[in-house]
Order: sequence, then C-alpha cells, then structure tokens
Amino acid sequence: MADPITPVLTKRWLSPESWRLATYERLEGYTALRKALAGTPEQLVTLIKNAGLRGRGGAGFPAGVKWSFMPPNEDKPHYLVINADEGEPGTCKDIPLMMADPHSLIEGCVIASYAMRSHHCFIYVRGEALHCIRRLNAAVREAYEAGYLGKNIVGSGFDLDITVHAGAGAYICGEETALLDSLEGRRGQPRLKPPFPAAAGLYAAPTTVNNVETIASAPYIVNAGADWFRKMGSEKSPGPKIYSISGHVTNPGQYECPLGTTLRQLLDMAGGMKDGIPLKFWTPGGSSTPMFTAEHLDTPLDFEGAAEAGSMLGTTAVMVFNETVSVPWAVMKWTQFYEHESCGKCTPCREGTYWLAQILERMVEGRGTEADIDTLLDVCDNILGRSFCALGDGAVSPITSGIKYFRDEFLALCESNKRELVGAQA
Ligand code: NAD
Ligand code: SF4
Repeated sequence: MADPITPVLTKRWLSPESWRLATYERLEGYTALRKALAGTPEQLVTLIKNAGLRGRGGAGFPAGVKWSFMPPNEDKPHYLVINADEGEPGTCKDIPLMMADPHSLIEGCVIASYAMRSHHCFIYVRGEALHCIRRLNAAVREAYEAGYLGKNIVGSGFDLDITVHAGAGAYICGEETALLDSLEGRRGQPRLKPPFPAAAGLYAAPTTVNNVETIASAPYIVNAGADWFRKMGSEKSPGPKIYSISGHVTNPGQYECPLGTTLRQLLDMAGGMKDGIPLKFWTPGGSSTPMFTAEHLDTPLDFEGAAEAGSMLGTTAVMVFNETVSVPWAVMKWTQFYEHESCGKCTPCREGTYWLAQILERMVEGRGTEADIDTLLDVCDNILGRSFCALGDGAVSPITSGIKYFRDEFLALCESNKRELVGAQA
C-alpha cells in the first residue's frame, strides 16, 4: 500500500503569494528550465519516457511517448496545447494548481515546447474559471518580463510564446480534438482519430495536447530525475498525483499522494466520513468512471488497480457519497449532465443520452416499471463502443455500474409504482 509523500506538485501551495514569480524563484522555480535548455530536445523526451510519466487528464497515455510522436523536422509550425478545460464532474485539481502555482505550469510549458520544437503554446482554460484566466495571464506577463518567455529565453536561443485562451464552458471542449476545433474558432466537436494531433492537430500542424498536471510535473522530473520519480507510485503508474476529494467527507479538497493510494488512506487524510455516516458509493475518477462501493476501499487507485477492479482511474476525482444518497437519483443527475453536454454529432450519444435521462427521470418520479431497467441497459449497450468519442462511453458508466451494485434500489422505485398502479385499478 502507498504511503503519503513529501508534497511535490503542491509543495508551494501554502506559501504566502505562492502564485508570484518571486515566490516561485525563491522555491527552486525556473531552475529546471535552465537545465532543460542546456540539453537537447531528444534528451528531454527520453527523460520523460524513462520517468514513466502518464497523462494526468484521465486516459493515462505515456507522456514521453506522445512527445516522441512529434516530427523531428520543422516543415510546419509545431504546437503545444495545454488542456486546462477541467470539466469532468468532481474534478478539481488543475484549476487549484493554476491558481496556487501557475509558474510551475509555465515552466513545464517551456520545457515541453523545447522538447517538441514548438514555439507557440496555447493554454485552453475553462471559460467559467475567470479568476484562473486572470491569474494565468498575470503569471505569463511576469514570465515574459523576466525573460522566461519570448525571444531567446534565458539566453538559450530558444523562443516561445504562450497564449492563454478562454473556452466557453462546453464539457466536450475538454475532448482534445473538439478543443482544437474550438481554438481554431469553430464549434467544438470531436474530430475523427486518426489522424492523431501529432500528425494533424491545430491548423493541421503537428500538435501535442497535454493536461495541466502532466506538464506541471515535467520541471520536477528534469530537476530530480527519472529514478526519483519512479520511486513514487507503482511500476506501471509512477509518480505523485493530485486526488480531488469531494462529497460526504469531513475535509474535502486536494490531496497529493503517490499513485496507488487507496480510498481508505484518502479518507484518513480527509478526516473520515462526514458526521460518521457510512460510505455507500464513490467514483475513483469522476462520473465517467464506473462507481465503486465500500468493497473497494482497498483498491489501489492507479491506472492498473482501478481497471482490474472494474473501473478506471480517470481524473482521480474521488466523489464520496454516504448512505443517505439514493443511487438512482445520483445516476439521473449525472445522466442529465451528459444529455446536456452531448455535442450532438453522433446518433448513439445524442439520442441515447436523451432517452436515458427520460427513463431515469420517470423512475425517480416513481413512474417507472421493472422493464425500464432492462431498457436502460439496452440503450447503454447501444451507446458503449458505438459513439464517436469518449463522452458516450462515459455517460453509460454511472448507469451500468449503479445497476450492477444497487439494482435493488432501482427495483424498489418500480415496485412502489407497481403497488400504486395495482391500488388504482382495485
Ligand atoms: P484516448 O485514450 O483516446 O487518448 C489519450 C491521449 O493519447 C490523447 O492525447 C490521444 O491523442 C493520445 N493517443 C491515444 N492513442 C494514440 C495513438 N495510437 N497515436 C497517437 N496518440 C494517441 O483518451 P481521450 O479520449 O483523449 O480521453 C479520455 C479520458 O478523458 C477519459 O478516461 C476521462 O477520464 C478523461 N476526461 C477528463 C476530463 C477532465 O476534465 N480532465 C473530462 C472528461 C474526460
Ligand atoms: Fe458528440 Fe456524444 Fe458523439 Fe462525442 S459521443 S461526438 S459528445 S454526440
């Protein structure tokens, strides 16, 4: 089992004015950038590959491998795009990171851009997070003034510009290709993959899209090395991770732990269940990841552990629900969210999420029948694996896992309706 670690990504968060350049520089900030720019891009890609850093946006794709997909020539401009459109329900790690320590992301952007021969980086931030956009813009200005951005960064000969871009609050724009369409000024809808962004991304040029936490991890790896990074977490999922814990816990918030930490350990850190009311169900990584129950308290929360137990690590957004919460009600709320956020491009998701929400609303209002449970599962079956992007698959997770573990609760809603119908006929 994993032990708590000395904070890495969150180590400056509690320092006074942690977001200012002066604080960042006093606490080792921008030292990795000098080291990185003194080496070659290839050395950096190898370092990140050796560290085993996996994408922190949810999918866990190896970051160094993704960086290596960028072409070695510069026939077209290369772009680094930071996915800061944190939108998965329950996820609250990237915005706190950018608020508390924006320069760690900026330093990571310079290092990653140098590794991928990019001279323009976009940070695509969720539009509602206006406070975060202001803070990032202020930090970018500070970095330009200090020579960490712009032409000839710290005398290295490397040039990089960063543009902070505000999204407009659509969940689908967190999907990397929809994000690229949105950045180009189009309506954000997923593109067909392949081609992956490294082959044809922003303006059809080689592009890498990485999550905030992934890129903010790079400076620490450059400074302390791949072996240091691998000492935390598990063999296939190394490193520290920010878990965001919300719901019925005493102290919700962000907890930085090695990958592989269990819910039991996270609950200890978060002061236990609020008011001592027992745990009923929880998500390991946002609502798109199948729910877990009290049976899974000791499941290691890394990419492999969550998958072996029947879910996914996702964004490590741990939403905790106690015994007072009705599972069908929670599932209905999540389904209404997916119905609202479905971009409408493909039929299984556009039509399916609509019907799923209709059926669940009917059940929760006590107008459902037992056959509705099978209809829900049938519609889910027709969405899963048949949708254009991951939103469709994510939308069925709460329903299929909710019915798997709490079928009785769905049945009970239908039984009460049946009694009423029989009573009315009698
Ligand atoms: P994905 O597995 O399709 O891709 C992950 C990354 O790897 C992408 O950047 C993709 O381009 C790259 N990749 C995958 N295969 C590749 C290949 N063969 N060649 C080149 N590049 C390749 O997953 P996804 O659809 O990008 O993301 C799904 C995840 O997003 C879900 O697991 C969910 O947890 C997460 N998510 C996160 C948020 C959030 O707010 N952070 C919101 C919704 C969903
Ligand atoms: Fe759009 Fe949903 Fe289809 Fe994704 S799965 S393309 S969000 S309609």
